[in-house]
Amino acid sequence: MLMSRPCFFLALIGLSLASCHAGDDKKPVMETSAEKPAEPAGKVVKTDEEWKKLLTPEQYRILRQAGTEAPNGAVYKEFKHQGKGTYHCAGCGALLFSSNEKFDSGCGWPSFYDPAKAENVTTKKDLSMGMVRVEVNCAKCGGHLGHVFEGEGFKTPTDKRYCINGVGLKFVPAKE
Ligand SMILES: [Zn+2]
Repeated sequence: MLMSRPCFFLALIGLSLASCHAGDDKKPVMETSAEKPAEPAGKVVKTDEEWKKLLTPEQYRILRQAGTEAPNGAVYKEFKHQGKGTYHCAGCGALLFSSNEKFDSGCGWPSFYDPAKAENVTTKKDLSMGMVRVEVNCAKCGGHLGHVFEGEGFKTPTDKRYCINGVGLKFVPAKE
């Protein structure tokens, strides 16, 4: 049976959409793995060269050079649709956040109101960019995660917003 013309055009559109999607896969996305990474026993210390081998260029820029990913990007869209699970440091595997503390702040970056494991998350004053902010780091490897803001009026248990770069996180979906 011959395909009618409209159907043929739809098939073409379908093909071009499929190839667009394949291109999207090359953009930096949040890592997802089925297995929880091993929790590092102590501090994780590596040279810049070792980090460069381990991380993607975008992960290196954010985690090791205190970079910031573009807001509302592919990573954030992915984050918004993730269900229950845990978020680990993409550098060293330490447990940092979980879907329990995740909330929609509308800021364009993954947001949590508290860490999942407080001892794995450290904060320090950041005076860069002409602002006074509180930087959030992984306590195990020192990786830059983002910033934390307080008292913005979010109806969460802490009214804190851990504004985190999704590229520096590895998502592990909860097992059913
Ligand atoms: Zn880490």
